[in-house]
Amino acid sequence: MPEYEAVIGLETHIQLNTTTKIFCGCKADSWCDPPNTNICPVCSGLPGVLPVLNEAVVEKAVLLAKAMNAELQTDSYFDRKNYFYPDLPKGYQITQNDQPIAVGGYMDLPLEGGETRRVRITKLHMEEDAGKTKHDYGRRMVDFNRCGVPLIEMVTAPDLRSADEVAAYIIRLRQLLRWLDVSEADMEKGHLRADANVSIRLKGSHELNEKTEIKNVNSIESLRSAVEKEIQRQISEVEAGNVIEAWTLDWDEDSQSLSKMRSKETMADYRYFKEPDLLVVHLDDDWKAKILKDFPELPLARRERFIEEYGLPEYDADILTSERSLSEYFEAAQQAYGGDVKRLSNWLMNDVMRLLNEQGLEAGDLRLTPQYLAEIISLVDANTINTPTGKALLEKVQQSGKSPAEIVESEGLAQVSDTALIRQIAEKIVADNPENVEKYRGGKESLIGWFVGQVMRESRGKADPNLAREVLEELLKS
Ligand code: ZN
Ligand code: MN
Repeated sequence: MPEYEAVIGLETHIQLNTTTKIFCGCKADSWCDPPNTNICPVCSGLPGVLPVLNEAVVEKAVLLAKAMNAELQTDSYFDRKNYFYPDLPKGYQITQNDQPIAVGGYMDLPLEGGETRRVRITKLHMEEDAGKTKHDYGRRMVDFNRCGVPLIEMVTAPDLRSADEVAAYIIRLRQLLRWLDVSEADMEKGHLRADANVSIRLKGSHELNEKTEIKNVNSIESLRSAVEKEIQRQISEVEAGNVIEAWTLDWDEDSQSLSKMRSKETMADYRYFKEPDLLVVHLDDDWKAKILKDFPELPLARRERFIEEYGLPEYDADILTSERSLSEYFEAAQQAYGGDVKRLSNWLMNDVMRLLNEQGLEAGDLRLTPQYLAEIISLVDANTINTPTGKALLEKVQQSGKSPAEIVESEGLAQVSDTALIRQIAEKIVADNPENVEKYRGGKESLIGWFVGQVMRESRGKADPNLAREVLEELLKS
């Protein structure tokens, strides 16, 4: 069988996390509101009203465009895209067509094995969302709450080559959107929607074949399996001598399968024309500079820097840069700690991240500040407390907000490194357990762990376990 490769492009719609809608003062996010309660004359399309552009939408679009290496345009315009659909009360969508806010751009996607895939961006513009329709009580109902919610539409060139690359791209995009505070980027809530255009060709060929479009996928895992299923379907069609037709396919989450929605009609005529009720968006140098003043280091650059500057393994750097606040926490903690980076990284990835997951927090929200974490690890390094006490202390600091030193002092957690005291306890344990002593001396040396455990228990967790082991071995072997 000849070898095929997939050719995939993604059309994404990103819901911006602004406070208000794009052209009126209604709340942008009405996820929990009853239908048609978050609307006004502007977004429900009443006659005689005028849209006013929300500047925060432009600012977020500029941040994303910059992060995607796109070229920002000084002057951009809005257009009307005319079509009739019940969820579109004005009869047109305000979008950008001829002169969008940015042109070009790309994302360099790291692939497994160290390779990089450059995914080009062919479209990046601002627009308003439409409402929703649904069938209920045997009738078709419309909800206009979502009308006028700000979106960025971003379309890639057909540069992705597998379902895994599609998933990797969306994961990176989601990370970037949150990093820039541009969108909540929650696919389940429709904050990030992705349609995939899929075709196949013989590997090495440059031909573009007929493609199908996959719609209505609402999670990254579903997107991955929908694309994978469609690639396999197209390969078996071609192998059977059939021709791929340009269908639009609907993903059904319950049955995890694709079904044909419609044959793709020829390009609709949207009769685009410039929106007469809005001014040009003039992004002058001052405004641009103001928006980009605190433009952050981006996740992939930070990941590279963590590997080079701190000598972190790729795996650690990946995790520590998965969220912006976590990466900032790491650097602040390392600055305060100054010790072995890998040691700090382990504490962060195991213990701090468990705390974050359990409590549903971001690193920036922790009462366990980076300085407190550094202090705890330093206390363990200095043998003032042992490791289990350090881990418990971490939770106590998070609970109380008190400093580690304060808690160690007030709860008497300092480790017992007094050899005489440990010897006293160990002697008692040995005297009280003659059977186990005999077994140990008879060759069952693994029992040492049990003896150390007894000393730890007797000392209420405070004994230095290494010292305890030393003393016990000496007693048991004598
Ligand atoms: Zn409104
Ligand atoms: Mn669109």
